[in-house]
Amino acid sequence: MRRRLARVLGAIVLVSSIPAAAQTRTPDEQAFLDVYRELVEINTTDSVGDNTRAAEAMAAQLRAAGFPAADVRVLAPHPKKGNLVARLRGSGAGKPLLLLAHLDVVEARREDWSFDPFTLLEKDGYFYGRGSSDDKAMAAIFVDSFVRLKREGFTPARDLILALTADEELGASSKYNGVRWLLANHRALIEAGMVLNEGGGGELRGGRHLVNRLQTSEKVPLSYRLEVTNAGGHSSRPTKDNAIYQLAEGLVRLSTFEFPVRMNDATRLYFERTAALHTGRVADDMRAMAQPTPDAAALARLSADTVYNALLRTTCVATRLEGGHANNALPQMARAVVNCRILPGHPAEDVQRTLAQVVGGAPITVTPLGEPFNSPPSPLDPDLLARVERITSDMWPGTIVIPTMGTGATDSRWLRAAGIPSYGVSGLFLGESRAHGRDERMGVQDLYAGRRFLHRLIKDLATAP
Ligand SMILES: [Zn+2]
Repeated sequence: MRRRLARVLGAIVLVSSIPAAAQTRTPDEQAFLDVYRELVEINTTDSVGDNTRAAEAMAAQLRAAGFPAADVRVLAPHPKKGNLVARLRGSGAGKPLLLLAHLDVVEARREDWSFDPFTLLEKDGYFYGRGSSDDKAMAAIFVDSFVRLKREGFTPARDLILALTADEELGASSKYNGVRWLLANHRALIEAGMVLNEGGGGELRGGRHLVNRLQTSEKVPLSYRLEVTNAGGHSSRPTKDNAIYQLAEGLVRLSTFEFPVRMNDATRLYFERTAALHTGRVADDMRAMAQPTPDAAALARLSADTVYNALLRTTCVATRLEGGHANNALPQMARAVVNCRILPGHPAEDVQRTLAQVVGGAPITVTPLGEPFNSPPSPLDPDLLARVERITSDMWPGTIVIPTMGTGATDSRWLRAAGIPSYGVSGLFLGESRAHGRDERMGVQDLYAGRRFLHRLIKDLATAP
């Protein structure tokens, strides 16, 4: 079977059948790889996957390493939405450190991929598979760290908690988001003084380790429905108050609107440090952002870049449109969805009020789709920053550490809202991110390096909180 597969796949080799690559692996790297492979190969998509299976598999790894059953729990609000929570008991100095990773992955269809997304494949220096980067790399590293610390007989100064959770990828719409569910139902199990989660990571450019990111806050996603209703009528007798025209006029006004710029500690330091990676006017413009009142021309130039623009302000953009019910009828309804990414600390009610003003008020109504949600930035902890910088400069001399605000969303938002400081940091470097996309992958050496980085950071934080 394996030989036939090898012939079919040509240069593509199954991970489990490459003695040459395996020889370059240390025994403990091989043990880690076994955990990583097991995780990637358990399908944890919402459609046909099973999160509980993955949680149970990781629980078995921990029990085999000597964790008492009472400290390794799989808790499930739904048979397929299980969460693993495990604890390595410390000597009680300081509040626990929580290591968080999500087990669920985004859907991946075999026909969209170049190979089976649920078979870990090593090829050309990469591991391919759904979840190979998002977020089973961190999940496997955390399990592996727990196993190693236990086997070493290491007693941390403070408790270490590991939580591997469900339904991160479904966002706020899921009833079974593991972090929210654990906060609501088993808060004591995950109560912590600090969380390490996804959302950070390193950037590779041309093989160079450019920056290692420490994510301290993230924007809050919230969609709004814009709607116009009308009595309608026969299209042979058009009226002036057409629901589609009225909505369209409001959307055109929105298209030229920009929310005001608001900086926070993380974005200020982000621009200040990112300036070092640029030259000329871009570098000057970035340095100008760190000033108390940034120069307007510099602001306008940076705003032209979608990445920088997203860091500078709340954004709202039309993403869906529907209206009317027949070709020969005046529309009784026209509706759009506007997706906003709200700066942390910018009240959602404020965004709604501004949207209503911008689109011109009545007859367009603006209604939030989902709970307006506030997630404050975690403090830019100088001690954590110093530790991350020290390990980064040891491992990758010359690589700078940059605090960031995520423009996407992770489960850190629920923890930050619950008052638990959360940080996105992994030491996992990527060239281009294929998370959520086809042929998702993680560099083999980058994975091992991220494993060394995180293990060191965990041990460092566990030894001297
Ligand atoms: Zn993720």
